[in-house]
Amino acid sequence: MTALLEVKDLEIKFRKDKEMISTVGEISFAVNEGEMLGIVGESGCGKSVTSLAIMGLLPKEMSQIGRNSDILFNGTSLTKLSDADYRRVRGKDISMIFQDPMTSLNPVLTIGYQMKEMILAHEKVSKRECWTRSVEMLKKVGIPRAEQIMDEYPHQLSGGMRQRVMIAIALTLQPKLLIADEPTTALDVTIQAQILDLIKEIQRESNTAVILITHDLGVVAEVCDRVVVMYAGKVVEEAPVKELFVDPKHPYTKGLLGSMPTLINDQNRLNAIPGSVPLPEEMPQGCRFAPRCSQAMPHCYTAEPPLVSLGNSHATSCWLYDKEEQKYG
Ligand code: SF4
Repeated sequence: MTALLEVKDLEIKFRKDKEMISTVGEISFAVNEGEMLGIVGESGCGKSVTSLAIMGLLPKEMSQIGRNSDILFNGTSLTKLSDADYRRVRGKDISMIFQDPMTSLNPVLTIGYQMKEMILAHEKVSKRECWTRSVEMLKKVGIPRAEQIMDEYPHQLSGGMRQRVMIAIALTLQPKLLIADEPTTALDVTIQAQILDLIKEIQRESNTAVILITHDLGVVAEVCDRVVVMYAGKVVEEAPVKELFVDPKHPYTKGLLGSMPTLINDQNRLNAIPGSVPLPEEMPQGCRFAPRCSQAMPHCYTAEPPLVSLGNSHATSCWLYDKEEQKYG
């Protein structure tokens, strides 16, 4: 498979008072054409910041990307693009849907106007063609009475319908990569399943690569091909989805899996991981998970474990698996 997106040693720093604090620390991963990659982790692990960096949407005055970091899309370095060139890539080649469509849809503009704006920002087409394509796209994402909805405002639609509209807008220009940041968290369970099915169907049909960002491993199990697990701004494990569920390696991944409710588990006895993700300015020395890890060894508190390949596209960063000192990537 060809890598469509390659994130290389991505470090993201944010300004806190007069200091620049590292929030995401030199992470690397790739997304192949037509693949659905899940990025999972608790809040504060750096998933959403990573997706904003890929979209070129980090606030410039507040943040900084590391000097040795690179984000390659189809072989072109996105980190070196001018703002104008980045705007051309956004929407056309890479699109994003957010958790809450109300914050990304403009409440005072009709759905039709917002879809037309997206098309006209990238293509020279007639208003009639814009309208036809928009209606087609709304129908494709399962919106009934698509023609009427073109003249309606976001507040007139249900949460599930608004998310469908966001997906339609994101896919209007047939991007090669779609980033979906917690796209179903704000929705009820039945609608969640419908939206996930829709994203999966579109990914299969049009061979769009998808990065699905979520805190929910259940969602990942349902739709993803491969998973990257992030903890405190680092990739701690990466594996094909089945392999991760059958044979997780990193204690953090095991903890996440152990805290998942299942039909068999007594939901009152879920094994929550003790403690919480450290703040970027309070990052511990050595392995960032050590203060919460039941298997931590003295070495873990002083030296950071590298990401080690375990074969079968499975890698983890934990001293428990570094016996042969194989450096990954
Ligand atoms: Fe736990 Fe040590 Fe592995 Fe970190 S490196 S996850 S502290 S065993």
